[in-house]
Amino acid sequence: MYVLVVNAGSSSVKYQLFDTATHNVMAKGLCERIGIDGKIIHKAEGRPDYAADIPMPTHSQAIKALVDALTNKQHGGVIESMHEINAIGHRIVHGGPYFTKSTLVTPEVIKELENCRDLAPLHTEPHLMGIRGCLEYMPDTPQVLVFDTAFHQTMPPEAYFYPVPQEYYDKYKIRKYGFHGTSHYYVSNLANKALEKLGKNPDETKIVTCHLGNGSSISAVKGGKCTDTSMGFTPLDGIIMGSRTGSMDPAIVLYILEKEGFTPWQMNEFMNKKCGLLGVSGVSSDLREVIAAKDGGNKNAKLAFDILCYGIKKYIGSYSAAMGGLDAVVFTAGIGENNPSIRKLAVGGLEFMNIKIDSDKNNNASRSKEPVIDISDEKSGVKVYVIPTNEELVIASDTERIVSM
Ligand code: ADP
Repeated sequence: MYVLVVNAGSSSVKYQLFDTATHNVMAKGLCERIGIDGKIIHKAEGRPDYAADIPMPTHSQAIKALVDALTNKQHGGVIESMHEINAIGHRIVHGGPYFTKSTLVTPEVIKELENCRDLAPLHTEPHLMGIRGCLEYMPDTPQVLVFDTAFHQTMPPEAYFYPVPQEYYDKYKIRKYGFHGTSHYYVSNLANKALEKLGKNPDETKIVTCHLGNGSSISAVKGGKCTDTSMGFTPLDGIIMGSRTGSMDPAIVLYILEKEGFTPWQMNEFMNKKCGLLGVSGVSSDLREVIAAKDGGNKNAKLAFDILCYGIKKYIGSYSAAMGGLDAVVFTAGIGENNPSIRKLAVGGLEFMNIKIDSDKNNNASRSKEPVIDISDEKSGVKVYVIPTNEELVIASDTERIVSM
């Protein structure tokens, strides 16, 4: 089946056309500067890249431009007509408490998604525009919504309720939702299969998944189901990130807001864009640049690096306690897949929990083409895996499953 995976953001639409039979990405691209002027960059296997300035006043024109690129042979098109696209899968950041699994788009589902506007206005509106653009240009093609929050919907109430009066959940739906769910699902599922081959019962495995990128989150996955996760009501919670704070004493928010005379919106921008590795190091939100500065003797860069490693270690410990044990730790996403020193320090000193990595395997993980890369020492009771994530593949597979039902 050919599935078009669409990730619609505020001023951009990323897309990939999958052949689900082979998992092959036939073409992919990016429409950007939507609402400003408009630009498409389109890449197809074995063909020259295509880039063009195309007016994109709204997401609808971006969908038209990507359909044209996919079907126009002169521009790297890989299909004859849009009718060859069997289904469309949308990445949806926030499904609120309303969506617990991937869902076929119907008029009722669109209405339900509109309810999530309040919870994630910056994401939901562009998602709706992407869905409407697809309805306009491919009205007969089934569309499926795949939610970043859905995998975390299995958390028990003690993990997802905050210590505020219940009426705030009733009125405003304030609770922990968690994000990066497709990634946590993908890597925990592969880790679970690897553990099953080692004789573990997949319904009883205890896995901590560390998705470490610009945005980072860590999840506890027991028997294949998420039981806790570090991001919360918003993606600002949890461990330190590229430019987001992660968790801190909530009183600090009010204190800085008052001292600096910030508006709530300015405070939100500050916590999302000026803090994290960038704020602490004063160098960059990109870990590679932070490490380069640390290695050059920059003390604040070292502090940012140390806060990150310490934070990951604390989550591994606390989630092991919450699950009553640990079978595997998984590292994924830009940092998790590529950075041996973060992995080494994050699990360093956890020998008392029977976790030990093999230095050579850790240092060489990036060269491996295996889907599950085992970097644990042979004596380690807990497996440590590097698993490259593939959120688009999850979206394509789920879309195929749902339209085939
Ligand atoms: P996003 O959350 O935007 O999808 P990514 O998963 O691409 O982010 O991760 C981006 C982060 O990964 C950056 O901090 C970057 O420095 C880090 N990263 C990517 N490659 C490497 C590498 N080889 N070594 C260290 N860090 C890396």
